[in-house]
Amino acid sequence: MPEGDSIHRVARRLQPLVGQRLEVETPHPRAQVLRIAERLDGLRLEGVEAVGKNLLLRFEGGLTLRSHLRMKGRWRVQPRGSRTFGTPWLVLRAAELEALEWNGPVLELSDAVARRLGPDILAEPPDLDAMVARLQRAPSLFLGEALQRQELVSGIGNMWAAEALWSCRLSPWLEVADVSGEELGALLAEAHRLMADGLDGRRRSKQAYRRAGRPCRRCGEPISSRGQGDANRTAYWCPRCQPDRASTQAASM
Ligand SMILES: [Zn+2]
Repeated sequence: MPEGDSIHRVARRLQPLVGQRLEVETPHPRAQVLRIAERLDGLRLEGVEAVGKNLLLRFEGGLTLRSHLRMKGRWRVQPRGSRTFGTPWLVLRAAELEALEWNGPVLELSDAVARRLGPDILAEPPDLDAMVARLQRAPSLFLGEALQRQELVSGIGNMWAAEALWSCRLSPWLEVADVSGEELGALLAEAHRLMADGLDGRRRSKQAYRRAGRPCRRCGEPISSRGQGDANRTAYWCPRCQPDRASTQAASM
């Protein structure tokens, strides 16, 4: 699943097209029916930004094209006229470069798409107060699930949720209501820090994500994993240094 940081990298690669009038094509039959090319062809691209896992391309006249890559979508920027493979969903041609997108099942042209999404975790600076307020509107959600609800906070996927929770010693099985606003703010700040590092190319080994059964790098306890939430994404956590409240109480008795 492309996470917010990889979408930000795509947005950076597309910046050279900004300011240019674009030839727009939608070769894939499922994209043709959306009638996007007819409305955008020849318009000037005014901006490209990543909002969470969405790429928003703003064209003159107030039109915004939203692209969400779901599981398999990808973008490529190449010199105009290079060989292409397969059938792209979208081709944007500028004077010297062209951008192509494959397998992107979500393409939506609208003037209101950005309003449905929560604040972007990778904004500089991130609007932590607004994100905390949105999370607190969903008090009964598990923390691991709430972090990935794009209408609350946009951009955090399963990997960064697991890593930020481990860093902050918070269990993904706590409910939002179990955690103070201060702790939520610190958790979001940590997710921002980890993801911004990844965006700038600084890699670090994962502490919890996909380490089920292997020793916690802090305390040695084996990392646990279990499906969580409606989407049944796998949560990863250290049961010793990320206790949920019930086990904290049990331990203090
Ligand atoms: Zn641990």
